[in-house]
Amino acid sequence: MAIDSLAKQMKADGIDVVGFGAGEPDFNTPDEIKAAGIRAIEENNTRYTPASGLPGIKKAVCERVKADFHVEYEPSQVMVAAGAKHCVYVALRALVNPGDEVIVPAPYWVSYIELVRMMGGVPVVVTAEESAGFKITAQQLRDAITPKTKAMILNNPSNPTGMVYNGEELKALVDVCVENDLYIIADEIYSCLLYDGLKFTSVASLGEEVKKRTILINGVSKAYAMTGWRIGYALAEPEIIKVMSNYLSHCAGSCCTISQKAAEAALSGSQEKIETMRQAFEERRNYLVERMNQVEGVSCIKPEGAFYVMMNMEKLVGRTVHGQVIHTCDDFSQAFLKYGLVATVPGTAFGAPNFVRWSYATSMENIKKGMDRLEAFLKEFQ
Ligand code: PLP
Repeated sequence: MAIDSLAKQMKADGIDVVGFGAGEPDFNTPDEIKAAGIRAIEENNTRYTPASGLPGIKKAVCERVKADFHVEYEPSQVMVAAGAKHCVYVALRALVNPGDEVIVPAPYWVSYIELVRMMGGVPVVVTAEESAGFKITAQQLRDAITPKTKAMILNNPSNPTGMVYNGEELKALVDVCVENDLYIIADEIYSCLLYDGLKFTSVASLGEEVKKRTILINGVSKAYAMTGWRIGYALAEPEIIKVMSNYLSHCAGSCCTISQKAAEAALSGSQEKIETMRQAFEERRNYLVERMNQVEGVSCIKPEGAFYVMMNMEKLVGRTVHGQVIHTCDDFSQAFLKYGLVATVPGTAFGAPNFVRWSYATSMENIKKGMDRLEAFLKEFQ
């Protein structure tokens, strides 16, 4: 946040800062989805809906999930809320009692830790090393389990690393969850963004025992460039969804009716635009990763999904730039913004010291500029 507000201030002051902090697609919401939203207003779909969502969107969610992941859910197993983040929150509300432990693989999406704490729960961090492709193993998971463990949050593909667990790796992890009677909160918000021809495997598709323990979370934010519409959804066993929906009903009520209508159109309409955006992301990733690995002093592994790259800056620790010693990735990001005019997110926010996250949800032109500036900035190190 500190870097972000400084970057915004610099931009407001007319300084040409290039931003790589974005957690949202830089594309616009496709026209036909916008039109569905406009139509919803014109047709006076402007009143409350059932707290857990309109029947139409629930049906569209079930059909989408069946087509994409080959898993069957009934509309009574769906809760629609104001974004995937809200769904994670409500899922934790339903599952976690004070003192319960929730396993969170690191590097993690920043909100998970805070969300678990908000429930009075205890986040138990299991670190996935870069050398392991930023993926945890079944043994690491097993070692982290105690009698108090209630659930694991599994984000695949991952923000911030972009790594993707394949079906086999996932199976090894979820088997441990089944053996130990744990819930799996599967945040699959980036499920449509995989590269190199890889196919996504949803946790829910790994057998009935796994599906029963899974709260599957997804949404329209990343897939359809709809971050501002605020629609996410959760799928689970009916009794879990009932508790979640009751909670939602009292704390927020239904989410925006117009957005629900637009999201229904997104989920049930042509999925072609997703592919166009996915290809653009893949092209950007290829360019960024190749350039980054040509620069002396930093490196990155090639992520297979989402739109983030974790840059390893370990070799720069202890070196000096513009008279300032770089001790941490926070120092690096601050100096890079100040002297290199590039905004990135330091890995400390994600439980990943010595890494810096670059989001490539920005134009190719900006990515080229950013890489040129990285090259120039690193030459200034002593
Ligand atoms: N989950 C992860 C891993 C994310 O990276 C994000 C957004 O950055 C979200 C959830 C939030 O999605 P939504 O906009 O649907 O709340």
